[in-house]
Amino acid sequence: MTEKTHNIQEWAWSAGKKPISLFSSYNLQEVPSKSPLLFIGGMHGDEPEGVHLAEEWLNYLRGSSEELKPWILIPCINPDGYAKRQRTNGNSVDLNRNFPSKCWTSEHDKDRYFPGNSAGSEPETTAIVDLIKDVKPCQIIHFHSWKPMIVYSNQKAEMVARHFSETSKFELKNDIGYPTPGSLGEYAGNDLDIGVICIEEQDEMKVQELSTIFPRFKESLIWLVSLES
Ligand SMILES: [Zn+2]
Repeated sequence: MTEKTHNIQEWAWSAGKKPISLFSSYNLQEVPSKSPLLFIGGMHGDEPEGVHLAEEWLNYLRGSSEELKPWILIPCINPDGYAKRQRTNGNSVDLNRNFPSKCWTSEHDKDRYFPGNSAGSEPETTAIVDLIKDVKPCQIIHFHSWKPMIVYSNQKAEMVARHFSETSKFELKNDIGYPTPGSLGEYAGNDLDIGVICIEEQDEMKVQELSTIFPRFKESLIWLVSLES
């Protein structure tokens, strides 16, 4: 197997000064043949199921000898929270409330949803915002865990989200059911007009159950990166 994957180990730094690693199918200095797919795991540090899925998916992509669409994958965007098994980053900010969406607000009802002192205040958020501006992804898929569901923002993501829902048997939603100002879906999906899909695995999985996650989404993920979709 020839390793073709590019890896920037210190692509960005967390609030707590931990390195954030980025993998891609192409050199980010170059313009790819098509706009890339962007996969993000670990936005919430207490949702290890999402990091597990991102890592398994990365292993698959690295080993694939097929011709695929350009892709970028960040296995764990919140290493501070992941190390402590807490939702927020090293500044106690919920990264999925910190994106500079038009609807961003400092109001929040629980500490775990603290959106930061200003929109886009966190280095992890800024890194994603800059990346989106630079590479202009065609779709963004981020991996979480709560209750099993596939949530999409922007109609552009509906067809792909429906595919994930049909193969996983997870419920399809175009709204998680409560307001999420400053979320990636609001920022990239609604403001920037990019299709965004949030995959919510079941949370609180036992270690021995983690191996069930990737097979559940494998078919749709492969279809998504294949040139035919
Ligand atoms: Zn989450």
